[in-house]
Amino acid sequence: MAIVFKLASLSSSLYSPHFARHNFSNPHPIYSLTCNASTSPFTEKHSIERHQRDQWLYKNQLEKTSSGSFLSDSKSIRENDIALQLPELKKLLQVLKEKRESEGGCSGGKCSPGNVFLVGTGPGDPELLTLKAVRVIKSADLLLYDRLVSNNVLNLVGPDARLLYVGKTAGYHSRTQEEIHELLLSFAEAGATVVRLKGGDPMVFGRGGEEMDFLQQQGIQVKVIPGITAASGIAAELEIPLTHRGVANSVRFLTGHSRKGGTDPLFVAENAADPDSTLVVYMGLSTLPSLALKLMHHGLSPKTPAAAVERGTTPQQRTVFAELKDLAYKIVSTELLSPTLIIIGKVVALSPFWPVSAEEESYMVLAR
Ligand code: SAH
Repeated sequence: MAIVFKLASLSSSLYSPHFARHNFSNPHPIYSLTCNASTSPFTEKHSIERHQRDQWLYKNQLEKTSSGSFLSDSKSIRENDIALQLPELKKLLQVLKEKRESEGGCSGGKCSPGNVFLVGTGPGDPELLTLKAVRVIKSADLLLYDRLVSNNVLNLVGPDARLLYVGKTAGYHSRTQEEIHELLLSFAEAGATVVRLKGGDPMVFGRGGEEMDFLQQQGIQVKVIPGITAASGIAAELEIPLTHRGVANSVRFLTGHSRKGGTDPLFVAENAADPDSTLVVYMGLSTLPSLALKLMHHGLSPKTPAAAVERGTTPQQRTVFAELKDLAYKIVSTELLSPTLIIIGKVVALSPFWPVSAEEESYMVLAR
């Protein structure tokens, strides 16, 4: 009952989703790809793949619609997404508990807790998953996944496992962090093997620490399986060594975003303006113009090589190279979208894709 109560409390925070889509039309002739939700390598909130995967959660509603077409009735379903998911989540909890009981894992109505695995899935290319991650993904009862877990990674999940989208997009959260904590806890307490999939590495700007903390405080065992963080995956794609003897003796991962009410992430600019260091900026699209200005103000050369990579390691990867002074403008003119990673530092010019001379166009865009 306690578990059911916990799940019921999740329904209290219904949201009103916004359906605004980016304008993906792109007049630039160099692009061969049309970027829209259906071609996204990631599990965007409104992608068809996402809705197909989560259909089990809307079983009741599907049975009620005579056409049985989920997508045609998607607006009303999405509006009450979380509330609509509850009956199936509760049913799944019950099934898992019964399975546990039949296996002897419960006594007196209480089950020995299951495990939660925080699994890093890398930046998108499924071949970048670790063997451990694949093994755990295949053994899961329930997988909670994020926006930056690619569809190709989710295609590896076994047919009997249940997938639940808990992703966030900038300015819009489908589930709050607290709700995610409660979901993980409810299912782990029912004895399930719960896998929390996170793009890249769970411990690099992935809130892995918070989820681990919460669950451990509740007595749940948490195992972290590292993933290849976007910086490593993308640096390998572009053949950029993040450190290189005589060029960069350190590398720094920055976030361009701050927590609400948190310290301005740009405050680091003064210390980060080091010509012998490589800067990798996560979630930095919107703050790049001010970050670039601050870095230059604190002494980083405007000619410092830089790159911005959208959807790195996926077939839709796009890259812009530019000197620091031009990067923000080039990103806007090429309409790079999230997720985009920014690398700033002399090592960027070591990439074989870096334009060789100043006379050459100062940037280029590559399809993978
Ligand atoms: N835990 C993740 C980072 C999550 S923060 C990791 O270790 O990689 C989200 C940010 O990561 C995005 O805004 C973007 O800056 C970066 N990112 C993640 N995957 C990416 C990808 N495939 N291509 C480009 N940037 C990516």
